[in-house]
Amino acid sequence: MTSRMKLDDYVEGVLRGDRTVLGRAITLVESTKPEHQQLAQQMLLELLPHSGKAHRIGITGVPGAGKSTFIDAFGSNLTAEGHRVAVLAVDPTSPRSGGSILGDRTRMQRLSNDSAAFIRPSPAGGTLGGVTRSTREAIVVVEAAGYDVVLVETVGVGQSETIVANMVDFFLVLMIAGAGDELQGIKKGVLELADMIAVNKADSGNEERARAAAADYQRALRLMQPASPNWTPPVLTCSALNNTGLDTIWQQIQLHRRKLSDSGEFDLKRNRQQLDWMWAMVDDRLLSMLRAHPAVRELIPTLEAEVAGGRLTPTLAADRILEAFSKPVD
Ligand code: GDP
Repeated sequence: MTSRMKLDDYVEGVLRGDRTVLGRAITLVESTKPEHQQLAQQMLLELLPHSGKAHRIGITGVPGAGKSTFIDAFGSNLTAEGHRVAVLAVDPTSPRSGGSILGDRTRMQRLSNDSAAFIRPSPAGGTLGGVTRSTREAIVVVEAAGYDVVLVETVGVGQSETIVANMVDFFLVLMIAGAGDELQGIKKGVLELADMIAVNKADSGNEERARAAAADYQRALRLMQPASPNWTPPVLTCSALNNTGLDTIWQQIQLHRRKLSDSGEFDLKRNRQQLDWMWAMVDDRLLSMLRAHPAVRELIPTLEAEVAGGRLTPTLAADRILEAFSKPVD
């Protein structure tokens, strides 16, 4: 393969399921260079009709909850059943640190040696918006390559959970039992996003504590309005280490899909996600155009100083920025 691949090389390689081309296609999607972006969009347009068939599952949990152990075991169960599993990651820390803690192959020993699995670390660098875009586009690419289960991993920090929940069909929240403070530090927002909560590490004498934690989460969930009229999020316990409870989790995920598909909610949800994605792209593009606009750039230091110093209201400053933005660049 030459270093300069053409559109057809990408499209045909991905559709053939060629892993090397697949990796390069995702690299293309992740690139922020305008010429790469243009080629990536042409490629995505051709791949789009071949995508959409996978079951997309988001998985979150605090560091140490057992996400990688879970994905390794869960993904291996699925490939043993004949599925092809792709693992992607949205790591909100990578834009800052430049490195990725998620999707590291060494964290998933079995799956990384499985020919029916494809693991891709979170793109390093860039904004959360950029990471989000490329992960959404990577989903299109791996689906076109024939992966029928896509697992999107994220760590429970900031906005990334909401973002991932909005690009998947099912959002699984992994928890671990604490010492009687089950609900401490757990943002209510995460529970609202959950299609299922699984209390992991229910093994080695920890089973009872895990069950108690599950009962607490169950109570907390009952106080909330379910996001879907067709689904009540279950709370289960499991052990990723011993591979127990993972089969029930998969059955529930399939049941969720059947219920949402039968009611028409599944397609509606996907359509809504596509539109949300479009508008998120508009937001993102507008903001970068705004920041790059010469007149705006010139104004910003003064306006920021004025607003910070209490001499100008934020609303008036915003008006001035948009006024400068709407003037044609000479
Ligand atoms: P992550 O940071 O969420 O990806 O968590 P890891 O999968 O790296 O797991 C963190 C630690 O918990 C590791 O030492 C795992 O071996 C351990 N661990 C993960 N799942 C289980 C489990 O089901 N039971 C027990 N006892 N330990 C687990």
